[in-house]
Amino acid sequence: MKTFTYTGLPARVIFGAGTILRIAEEADRLGIRRAMVLTTPAQFAEGGHIMGLLGGAGAVLHTRAAMHTPIEVTQAALEIADSEQIDGLIAVGGGSTTGLSKAIAHRTDLPQIIVPTTYAGSEVTPILGETHNGIKTTISDPTILPEVVIYDVELTLSLPLAMTVASGMNALAHAVEALYAREANPVLSLMAQEGIRALSKALREIVNDVTNRDARADALYGSWLCGMCLGSAGMSLHHKLCHTVGGSFDLPHAETHSAILPHALAYNASAVPEVDKLVASALGSRRGAAGLHELAVAIGAPTSLQAIGFRFEDIERAADLAMAKPYWNPRPLERPELLTLLNNAFAGNAPETIND
Ligand code: NAD
Repeated sequence: MKTFTYTGLPARVIFGAGTILRIAEEADRLGIRRAMVLTTPAQFAEGGHIMGLLGGAGAVLHTRAAMHTPIEVTQAALEIADSEQIDGLIAVGGGSTTGLSKAIAHRTDLPQIIVPTTYAGSEVTPILGETHNGIKTTISDPTILPEVVIYDVELTLSLPLAMTVASGMNALAHAVEALYAREANPVLSLMAQEGIRALSKALREIVNDVTNRDARADALYGSWLCGMCLGSAGMSLHHKLCHTVGGSFDLPHAETHSAILPHALAYNASAVPEVDKLVASALGSRRGAAGLHELAVAIGAPTSLQAIGFRFEDIERAADLAMAKPYWNPRPLERPELLTLLNNAFAGNAPETIND
């Protein structure tokens, strides 16, 4: 018998196709009369659509969300929220737009409705990563957790294939790390395995047809479950590496996850061989870490840090950063092995697995 603690995270989740049409009703349920709709510059049209659906409850469309939630962007949005007497936030987009909403909510406690259009999973976590003077810090607080999430499959059809596969690998990482987290518990493990199963199968199908609605629905469902894992379990080596490598060397977020994930699981597999087996089974593969690498290759997701802009001469520093203030991890961090991991991820090699 294993002792465990499970803490549920409260959120109202609406899932389906065309669910965005319920935005006005959901805003009304939260008592929102003057909503600020948030997007990146690239998704201003989606924001305009939502403004239209909100009618009188849409006060401001703000299209300045940016990657890694820079504090200056948040400050500017806070000023507008204040001067426009905003009483609720609606974010439509990926993790960057969700991040801006969370950053405002953390400082104002305004209610949030998130409409995710990638598979990042941020919409169901109480976690906020912000950048101040180029340094990224992460905080977790109940005010950050969005109240309502509207998953609309239709809004994910436009996600380009390259972002789809990288974002999908990002989500898989949340589930994989939840399986061996210190906070691992049977409920999270169920969600993690189902998330990996649904999302990995869907990604293989989306590669053949990005507009396949059933596959897109399964991918969104799987990414929701993976996001729930991130929200409830502490993260370990993989997320720490992505945080330091991605944050310190300015690499694209989801792509970094994709290149590192098979190697992080391979590193930990000797300490938690049962997790490698669970991942393998969820992937429908013979092996876990190697199965993740095979999946990335099959769907064309990034497998190499070099290919996404990481420099060979930064490997040593990345290892030092990962060793500094390490997260809890099922296997102790050892610098020589981390260097091997980073070298393999740099080159896009298959991971060194316990079965080799
Ligand atoms: P993103 O939000 O940066 O999106 C990348 C680009 O794709 C943006 O221009 C966006 O507008 C566009 N885009 C998004 N959906 C689209 C769609 N359906 N069609 C066309 N274009 C679309 O990318 P991301 O990977 O979702 O988010 C990355 C950010 O999220 C990082 O800052 C990361 O730290 C954060 N994140 C946070 C958490 C958390 O729990 N706090 C979890 C995961 C990611």
